[in-house]
Amino acid sequence: MLKVAKFGGSSVAGAEQFKKVKAIIEADPARRIVVSSAAGKRDSSDHKLTDLLYLCHAHITYGVSCEEIVGAIRSRFVEIRDALGLKYDVEGEFDKLLPRLDKYMGVDELVSRGEYFTSRLLAEYLGYRFVDAADCVFFGFDGQIDREKTYAAIKDALDKYERILIPGFYGRLPTGKIKVMSRGGSDISGALAAAAVDADIYENWTDVSGILVADPRIVENPAPISTITYAELQELAFMGASVLHEDSILPVKEKGIALNIRNTNRPQDPGTMIVDDVEEAGDEEERFITGIAGRRGFTILTVKKRSMNTSDSLRQALEILDRYHAPVEHITLGLDSFALVSATKALGDSVYDVIADIQKAVRPDDVNVKEGISLVATVGRKMTSRPGTSGRLFHALGKSGVNIRTIAQGADELSIIVGVENEDFEKTIRVIYERFAG
Ligand code: ASP
Repeated sequence: MLKVAKFGGSSVAGAEQFKKVKAIIEADPARRIVVSSAAGKRDSSDHKLTDLLYLCHAHITYGVSCEEIVGAIRSRFVEIRDALGLKYDVEGEFDKLLPRLDKYMGVDELVSRGEYFTSRLLAEYLGYRFVDAADCVFFGFDGQIDREKTYAAIKDALDKYERILIPGFYGRLPTGKIKVMSRGGSDISGALAAAAVDADIYENWTDVSGILVADPRIVENPAPISTITYAELQELAFMGASVLHEDSILPVKEKGIALNIRNTNRPQDPGTMIVDDVEEAGDEEERFITGIAGRRGFTILTVKKRSMNTSDSLRQALEILDRYHAPVEHITLGLDSFALVSATKALGDSVYDVIADIQKAVRPDDVNVKEGISLVATVGRKMTSRPGTSGRLFHALGKSGVNIRTIAQGADELSIIVGVENEDFEKTIRVIYERFAG
């Protein structure tokens, strides 16, 4: 058994968190690869090191002294080191870094130091071999991860050393320069490491006990999801549930590696297991649906024309929206009409031009614009085979006085999406939760 354990910023925020990480690592010898984020917030008034480092760079850009911020970053590392009795020469390393800060160091290298120093300290504390991401995570000239080269280097490192620790979030360009990923990128580094060594499980340790059925800001005490498929997770993530960096899914999904989201502060909780296939996910979950997620701020454009050639008109309308860079999220078709749903923000002020162009191209009897729409997706692998699910869902919403403006079902029947007025957004989620998961 081989596991990759990635620890997020809150899991390595300070010395107390380091101790929890050590206990987790020592509890299971299969956790031979550790990937670490930069130290995050210790409490709500604290700052993530990555944010401070970006702030530091902004100061340098505008010619304002960043001495104070650098001092704060340095003391975070010194505090951790001293509290845990480690030896790493934080001061010496910072002394070497400072003269390079303004002139020679690119923003990416500067920001990557959050992960670098946190990982240096954690590696010493855990007794793991530090393997710099600059030596094992590689980007191509196109700025995309060079997976082949990355996998080979990580595999090599694990062959050479029994237990390794890799900083997340950054890697090296073919030019030799350091490049960071997008925010939250350590999730990707962890996934790459898991895929590289064909791990049995990719553990993603964070500060929640897994993914919840619904947003806890909307539903009181929602149940956690024990097993979810990658496909279901993608539907939920697309609809606004933010759990993992979306690019972290592909490397592990491709290799059929299960991803387990765990809570560093409650290691006794099993968390959420994300698996590739439904068989593996099984039916043990008693709940009929897997999750509910939604997003506000959509516009519905309805085009009506008696006896229209729907496919021609639809194609023209889609081309027009594409021209204005407004992606279409959903389409509903009627005999003499169709409706397109797009994000209000993406349409922006172009909405009037879009309507004018549709009028010119399609010559409809009527074009209607309805803003202020929310989309709510109910996702569940069990829904695919059971008739009557949508009926029950619509009935529950109707009984609660929620007016459904549009309906869409994913082609694989994995999700049912309803469009409702923004003001009914939270109520819709609550009603669905109570009907199917409460
Ligand atoms: N430290 C980086 C961030 O805050 C990357 C990560 O934590 O995954 O975005």
